[in-house]
Amino acid sequence: MTLFDSHFHLYDDKYGNEQDEIIKNAHDNGVKYMVDIGLDEETSKIVIEQANKYEGLYCAIGMYPEYCNGDEIDLSFIEKLYNENQNVVVALGEIGLDYHGDDVNKENQKKHFIRQIEIANKLNLPICIHNREADMDMLEILKSHKVNKGFVMHCFSSSLEIAKEIIKLGGYISIAGPVTFKNARSLIDIAKFVPLDKLLIETDAPYLCPEPLRGRRNEPANVRFTAQKIADIKEMSLEEFVHNTTENAKHFYNIT
Ligand SMILES: [Zn+2]
Repeated sequence: MTLFDSHFHLYDDKYGNEQDEIIKNAHDNGVKYMVDIGLDEETSKIVIEQANKYEGLYCAIGMYPEYCNGDEIDLSFIEKLYNENQNVVVALGEIGLDYHGDDVNKENQKKHFIRQIEIANKLNLPICIHNREADMDMLEILKSHKVNKGFVMHCFSSSLEIAKEIIKLGGYISIAGPVTFKNARSLIDIAKFVPLDKLLIETDAPYLCPEPLRGRRNEPANVRFTAQKIADIKEMSLEEFVHNTTENAKHFYNIT
């Protein structure tokens, strides 16, 4: 069985210097493919370095919405880094809208999100979307700015209605550890609804550790708990479910 963790952060401080162990543990648990997701220029450079170092590790580069509240954010690093590292960069991400908290400038976030969609289209890359408390603006942008190579809503946490809109737009939905939590009713309905060929799984590690390890530091090896839970929800064998989501992720990220 070959698992694919479609979204996590190997450079996070919580891992200290344990990157070798995290990757080895993933491989030992059948997680052959992983995508390490950047948040700004500095972490984009780090994920590229890490993806060049580890077998089966790819990366996404871009500017996180929280860092896009300013007026003119320099995004030129994206194209430059991509051109030098096309062997490992498989998407732009994570990018999007995050209206949670103070000091949010919605107009500037939207402007820089749209700019990054345009860069993705120029570079022929899909995008990994972070969306928090911004459903309506997110849908409006996705309807008016087509992402040619496709998009995934990472760690999906919106409603079933929004999930339906995303599927109508041809997007993928990625589900993380919270589907295993006790209060996961709405995510369970969403997992049931999302067509099998539009579903990805992820850890978003080191965060959101699934049951039975909830509360601990998360890592890609744990993506199997989320896979088992959704396989049960969809009344499929784990093997068949994992085969499907791994093929989906390989297709989405254009990994052969
Ligand atoms: Zn993330």
